[in-house]
Amino acid sequence: MIISRQKDLAVLFEGLSSDDAFFVVGCGKCAEKLRVGGQREVEEISHRLVERGLRVVGSRVISTACSINSWEETVSEMPEIDDATVLLVMACGNGVSMISKASQMKTLPVLDTTSIGGVCHGYIIHEQCAACAECNTHLYHGLCPTAQCPKGLQNGPCGGSIDGTCEIGIERSCVWSQIYEEAEKCGSLKVFTKLHPPKDHSKKVRREGILEKI
Ligand code: SF4
Ligand code: SF4
Repeated sequence: MIISRQKDLAVLFEGLSSDDAFFVVGCGKCAEKLRVGGQREVEEISHRLVERGLRVVGSRVISTACSINSWEETVSEMPEIDDATVLLVMACGNGVSMISKASQMKTLPVLDTTSIGGVCHGYIIHEQCAACAECNTHLYHGLCPTAQCPKGLQNGPCGGSIDGTCEIGIERSCVWSQIYEEAEKCGSLKVFTKLHPPKDHSKKVRREGILEKI
């Protein structure tokens, strides 16, 4: 799941022109689950735009913003999109880019994308994965220091942790404390004695370019 949050709407609205006609797009996957771009939020932002005297020609929560099929289906079912001059997209950056490419229209993001995470037992889990292209969570009892340690440390904690919290903020757990707890439960602290080589950061960038035929 891609984690995102709404931008400061007051600031976003300031940049909108009354010469434009808006179509609001939500995403029925991550953004809806996170309650930042589902039906309720799409209706709310549409309502606020109208309150400000701006013209809203329509809105839709599409099935999956990052899938071109969802967009094509929406276009075929909602001819009023042709009357819009600006799409306001309540989806992650991936969804916004996909809709921008597919529609060839002016597209504005309503959300800021912050990390890859998930929703579990009533909590949003932020920063579970940093898409490093070299997954090694099995070495760390299912946790990921690449994504969850602000320093990305692969070989133990930095020494700044106090009572299991990260030195950058007491609200934040030190992932290495969590790794220690998990290791203790398993009865093996091997993760602290074995040297883990650094990540090959070149794997993160596709030299072959960003397009790949499927
Ligand atoms: S090791 Fe890399 S791919 Fe695996 S969860 Fe962490 S950042 Fe993501
Ligand atoms: S306190 Fe823990 S999580 Fe925070 S920077 Fe240090 S090792 Fe990383």
